[in-house]
Amino acid sequence: MSNNISRRSFFNKSIGLGAGLLLFKDLKIHSSGGKIGKTPIIITDHTNETGQNAMKAGWEILANGGSALDAVEKSTNIVEVDPEDVSVGYGGLPNEDGVVQLDSSIMDGKTYSAGAVACLENIKNPCSVARIIMEKTDHVLLVGKGALDFARKWGFKEENLLTDKARNIWLKWKENLNPDDDWGAPDHLRGLRDLAQQKLSALRRTVEAQGIEFTYGTTNHLSVDKNGDIAGITSTSGLSFKIPGRVGDSPIIGAGLYVDNEVGAAGATGRGEDVIKSCASYYIVMRMREGRTPQEACEDAMKMIIDKYKKVNPNFFPGEKFIALNKKGEYGCALMTGKDPAKMYVANSDGVNIYTGSVVFKK
Ligand code: ASP
Repeated sequence: MSNNISRRSFFNKSIGLGAGLLLFKDLKIHSSGGKIGKTPIIITDHTNETGQNAMKAGWEILANGGSALDAVEKSTNIVEVDPEDVSVGYGGLPNEDGVVQLDSSIMDGKTYSAGAVACLENIKNPCSVARIIMEKTDHVLLVGKGALDFARKWGFKEENLLTDKARNIWLKWKENLNPDDDWGAPDHLRGLRDLAQQKLSALRRTVEAQGIEFTYGTTNHLSVDKNGDIAGITSTSGLSFKIPGRVGDSPIIGAGLYVDNEVGAAGATGRGEDVIKSCASYYIVMRMREGRTPQEACEDAMKMIIDKYKKVNPNFFPGEKFIALNKKGEYGCALMTGKDPAKMYVANSDGVNIYTGSVVFKK
């Protein structure tokens, strides 16, 4: 997600279920742009300047008759190498040991192929490694050292991905830990009186008291080309200060990304653990297959996740953002919690424009 979401703000948001449900019922959907279907098209959840540049580059490929696959790779590469972006690729926030570990996936609807990497270190463009896995092997997912060795063999240059900016954020986090720190129970089980795990994780308490927040952040790029073929990429440095080896939803096909060449594509950002459990991107694409618009399908996935948690901890609201695109070039996006509705960039023959979707729980 281009604007980082903090764990603390998700947790704080969890007060007042009734209000939240009312909001969901009265959900305001801004879908004017999303109704107009045009191809070729490329979209991204990244709404900063880099996201805009990425869309321009992706659009140039599409406008010249290029493939959706090339367009999403090119546009994602631009976000991956932005040193200022602490949520994706080079400059991403590291794990708790100070090591940047990247996750990414790619899916090509035309050939029904997919590739992915998880916990990949030292390579600036993980989505391009994922593409080679997809095109040159019969595997889908390579992790850790195996993924790095594979990338090296294909000529990717090893580089230090930890920028001074990211290192300083990590050091501040590290300095504020104490010997009692731990990870504690999953966020959605915190605060439940009848569960042993009710104790707020000491690690999180310490960190949050210092105003240092765990952050999520990811980039999704989805495209339909002039032939109606569909492709998508998700790329991330994952949850900041994660346990080394933690894999989020981004490299999991069906969770952080899914593409169906007959229907459309969806991508997710936010709390990866929710997105994995709900197979959210697959769910969104299947809802579109059943006739829902991309905007409606994103909101359906939000509702599905809320319904699951309602039964476990009614005071918990997770944090996700979904974007989706269908074969006709219609699009949509939704955010679980936030001050403003979800936004994304859309590039088609109308230019590069911001589209405003919806937010389920408005802060
Ligand atoms: N979904 C990513 C992860 O959990 C992070 C994010 O999208 O913010 O690794």
